[in-house]
Amino acid sequence: MISVRHLSKSFLSPDGHRVEVLRDVNFDIQSGEVVAIIGPSGTGKSTLLRMLNRLETPTSGDVLVNGKNILAKDYPVHQLRQKMGMVFQSFNLFNHLSVLDNVVLAPMKLLGLTREQAEQEAIEMLRKVGLAEKAHAMPTSLSGGQQQRTAIARTLAMHPDIVLFDEPTSALDPTMVGEVQGVMRTLTQEKMTMIVVTHKMRFARDISSRVLFLYDGVVLEDGTPEDIFSNPQRKETRDFVHRIRKLTFEIAGSDFDFYDMSSQIKQFCISCSMPEKMDPVTHVVEEMLVIMQQFSKSIHIEVNHSDLDRTSTVVALHRGETLSPLDRDDTDELAAMIVRGMSKSIQTELTPEGVQLTIEM
Ligand code: ADP
Ligand code: MG
Repeated sequence: MISVRHLSKSFLSPDGHRVEVLRDVNFDIQSGEVVAIIGPSGTGKSTLLRMLNRLETPTSGDVLVNGKNILAKDYPVHQLRQKMGMVFQSFNLFNHLSVLDNVVLAPMKLLGLTREQAEQEAIEMLRKVGLAEKAHAMPTSLSGGQQQRTAIARTLAMHPDIVLFDEPTSALDPTMVGEVQGVMRTLTQEKMTMIVVTHKMRFARDISSRVLFLYDGVVLEDGTPEDIFSNPQRKETRDFVHRIRKLTFEIAGSDFDFYDMSSQIKQFCISCSMPEKMDPVTHVVEEMLVIMQQFSKSIHIEVNHSDLDRTSTVVALHRGETLSPLDRDDTDELAAMIVRGMSKSIQTELTPEGVQLTIEM
């Protein structure tokens, strides 16, 4: 369906020299595939998507869609864009139009549907994304998740052959990521061909049939989710997919703002989409502080989370101490019991700085 051949793109930087963003990108996409594109920010993922529907022109190379070169002078670009829907990070809805009017606009203008036909289909698309009830609402009265689902309904109303998603959940409040991902999952069940740029590793693994890892201007690895996430061939890929998010605190005394620390950890857990039922990380940190502060006030706390592995660890460094605060006779027994009960494993290590506990949850 899509063939990308030796695609390159460079930009002129403000200080006048050429920056080569994409160097030699090659891949093919078949109808029915769900391709996740992952890679560090600034590697050209958005630029690549935009070149597929000619929102951006390559410096060199070719893009063939159904065998035709879309860079040819006489190529019908408007038809290409009708068949290739795009969902952006920032919804791009018309805020002065109702949800329904946003969805009917393009089918009436570009496909020549009557208002009645277009509305009938729009309601159907809105139902698909769970928003039939909001048809007459204005976009600004909706949550971010609802606005993005409206944008998806608007795209689907054009009956695209393929939909390109450019980080569709990254502008959303973390609590709304799930509803948009849910809608995208239902599209895969309907065999919609999709290209999804995302930084959510677990979602990429679960939704895609194929993954491209874009790195340093090229497709460094191209494989099944199994290949890329469980058996990557390149070190760069492995490091990227297992990338760990980290939050650290230095506690020097009792004047430390513990309330702020607690809110930061809660926010971190939500943004990592950790299960909300029970938040063991916050509890473990709180109980560890109760225990450690009995003995010394110089504490380093680190909270780590890997999206792909769904593992969280709390690293607690007790400066100047040599004994594990959990194992001392005079420790706070109740707090120690809670920490043990909430963790999968606890490793103790003696470092030059003090005793360090790595608590895995
Ligand atoms: P990603 O989506 O992977 O984060 P982008 O495709 O947005 O990366 O951008 C890749 C690089 O190209 C960035 O360094 C960005 O600054 C640069 N870039 C993108 N578009 C333009 C443009 N229109 N003019 C100049 N530089 C650009
Ligand atoms: Mg981008």
